[in-house]
Amino acid sequence: MIDSWGQYRSSANATAYVQRQVPSLFTSNLEPENPRDLRLVRVAVNRGIDRSGDLRESLLTYTLPVGIDAQPGQLVKVPLGRANSAASAVAIEVGGFELLGDLPVEKLKGISSVTPAILPRSLLELAKWMAQYYVCPLGMVLQAVLPAAVKRQVGRTLVTRFTLAPDLDTRVAALGKLPKRQLDAIAALRTLPAERWPAKAKSLHAESGVSAAMQKKLVALGVLMALITDEVTASGELLGAFPSGPSVGAPARPVPTPEQAVAIDALERALGSFSAHLLLGVTGSGKTEVYLRVIETMLARHTHASAIVLVPEIALTPQTSSRFIERFGATVAVLHSGLSASQRNAQWALAATGRVRVVVGARSAIFAPVAKLGIVIVDEEHDSSYKQDQLPRYHARDVAVKRASIEGCPVVMGSATPSLESYANAIGPDHRYALWKLPTRANGARMPRVEIVDLVSERALRSQLHPGQWRTRQLHLLGPTLEIAIDQTLAAGGQAILLLNRRGYANYLCCPSPTCGWIMRCDHCDASSVLHMHQDVRAQSAGFVRCHHCLAEQLLPKRCPVCAKEINTFGLGTQRVEEELQRKFLHTRNLKLGETLLRADSDTMSTAKDYFDALSRFARGEIRVLLGTQMIAKGLDFPNVRLVGVVHADTALNLPDFRAAERTFQLVAQVAGRAGRGSHPGRVIVQTMNPREPSIVMAAQHDFEGFASRELAIRRASRLPPSEKMARIVCRDLELAKATGHAAALSAEITRLAPAIAGLRVRGPMPCPISRIADHHRIAIELTAPTRGTLQHLLAQLRSAGLLISDAHTAIDVDPVSLM
Ligand code: ADP
Ligand code: ZN
Ligand code: ZN
Repeated sequence: MIDSWGQYRSSANATAYVQRQVPSLFTSNLEPENPRDLRLVRVAVNRGIDRSGDLRESLLTYTLPVGIDAQPGQLVKVPLGRANSAASAVAIEVGGFELLGDLPVEKLKGISSVTPAILPRSLLELAKWMAQYYVCPLGMVLQAVLPAAVKRQVGRTLVTRFTLAPDLDTRVAALGKLPKRQLDAIAALRTLPAERWPAKAKSLHAESGVSAAMQKKLVALGVLMALITDEVTASGELLGAFPSGPSVGAPARPVPTPEQAVAIDALERALGSFSAHLLLGVTGSGKTEVYLRVIETMLARHTHASAIVLVPEIALTPQTSSRFIERFGATVAVLHSGLSASQRNAQWALAATGRVRVVVGARSAIFAPVAKLGIVIVDEEHDSSYKQDQLPRYHARDVAVKRASIEGCPVVMGSATPSLESYANAIGPDHRYALWKLPTRANGARMPRVEIVDLVSERALRSQLHPGQWRTRQLHLLGPTLEIAIDQTLAAGGQAILLLNRRGYANYLCCPSPTCGWIMRCDHCDASSVLHMHQDVRAQSAGFVRCHHCLAEQLLPKRCPVCAKEINTFGLGTQRVEEELQRKFLHTRNLKLGETLLRADSDTMSTAKDYFDALSRFARGEIRVLLGTQMIAKGLDFPNVRLVGVVHADTALNLPDFRAAERTFQLVAQVAGRAGRGSHPGRVIVQTMNPREPSIVMAAQHDFEGFASRELAIRRASRLPPSEKMARIVCRDLELAKATGHAAALSAEITRLAPAIAGLRVRGPMPCPISRIADHHRIAIELTAPTRGTLQHLLAQLRSAGLLISDAHTAIDVDPVSLM
């Protein structure tokens, strides 16, 4: 009997296996005579079956052949549809006649096979909760919970061997008159010596002359039985796949500061049962050290439990993970995006066996199948990459809290700029989360001084410095203050990080004629297109235009298609800053693209390895200026970074999203925190068009709590999250009328139900801020209510009315993070 994924319990590269008879592939003659003995299994398949929202109604029922056992959580294969194509599914309920309901027994099919992988009970419970909470069919949730590699059994092979039925004589007798060919085949098989069994199809053919087709036929007759063996082929090579990151040169195990000690002590006392904690610590305050210490204690105290550490995908690469590897050595599994499917599968298998005791990974690592969970850490808990933007639209932080509560262990969320959701939970009247603060940097370094510079006065300054230059149409994204600071930093041997949270070269391409007004827009989306340059930005014709929503590309027309004037390219992007840096510092400071200057955005960093290499080169000091989007704002800790420049702090500010200020605060505060971590005091320069904007001013003062209390008051007054809970429904269709029609039907039902639902507020139906993406029109309805319960109640009712089927036409987002 297999317990959890314990079949891997021997070493990973051994041929661990489970043997199991699976004659079920050919079950017809193995059914019990008495229907009362019928064994049934109800499974979830990866399909949008969700007609009523009732979990049980979305399951499919199959018979379990005699001699085959399955248990809830087990991965099985079932024949699906008319073609009976084999689909993977997860057994949810296993039982007898009582599961039949009013299904006609003769219509039931048998399951095709049973795999040895079993989802732990706690994960199954978590998946059921997610299906309910995030309004997603259970089968689809399970697809997210199980990594693709496990579903496809990558790194494992199923080997089939055959053996003669133990009761061969009785069986042959019962079959009555058989064709001569079959009798001959049976006779040939009988002559094989006992040690030849069980045999693979090929050797059976070679030794007895019985063809594969005949073997199959004999299996169907019950003469031969198939033994399916599951063998691990992936090697156990785990950490070798992951180069250790640039070391920061800190002492291996620093003595905790008094503030760290308080948090460590409290968290250690919390081990062993569920509780939720928010660790609010300024950048560089030693939050990671707190996690490491508490995990250490947990591992020592609970010798069968494991820890899960979630980090934003991009922070995974070098630094954070190498600190865990340094501390915990071979007991760490790092689930990063650079792993091959079979490596990933092997990592998961090891997590299940308990050989891996600390799993570090991005969003989906919250589903690591550890046998017993001792603690969950969610680092940088505010990070938006924890929210999955496709089905199931879950938030890994909230799932982490749920999983911890199911498993009875503490969950620790850490950040210098927590989400207002978590912060409200920590300071609210019912103290759902305990709050621990680390207000100073751990190594005694001071928080960097942040200067806000007004881009309007910078422009005036430049025209004084270089009178007449305004005439040249040259654009400056770097104002004189930032430009001089970069120059000084490079002259003094320091390094700089420059942030601009927008990719490409220019995002506003238009005709200069005021009477024409032509703007370059995507043909398929309600959005303007962004100009990108090919690698060599100096070549004039090297640009192409890309839509950031549907990724469609076009060539940039040289002239306005309406009036033939030469097109203007306005707006900003990292490529344009790159060009400007080269122009200004190539000759004076030898700042050379690809050598001493590097741009890190999703256009240049397509794999985890690219990013790892870039950071290694930055750590070694080869790269002097690192320019990038928000991916460089997270978690980096390099002592020689003496200057951080925010090229334009306003990129998120003007988005039509109620979290615009929160995002701006997080971005500025996080990137500022990258400066001055070593012995040199750090300098941060924030360029903005809105120098008095509170989110920018308070980020400059490292004043999270001040910002949070102001912003929470605004949210309360406008009844937005986290004061109220939100769900958003987007109806999409190629035809506007259909999208509008569906939204209207939903809206009518909501209006009918609304009077019974206390405090419900409905916005819409209304076009989304981006009203068309990839030719699909998008109509949104936003729902808010004072409690999760009320909102869930409404969603459940809409679901059972058949109005919330999650498919290509309806996207339901509970606790949405983006409202575009
Ligand atoms: P955070 O995760 O809060 O940004 P880190 O854990 O990365 O902070 O710590 C920042 C730096 O301070 C790291 O280089 C770390 O090694 C160092 N550090 C952490 N705790 C201590 C301590 N108690 N004494 C000295 N240095 C420390
Ligand atoms: Zn588009
Ligand atoms: Zn024009």
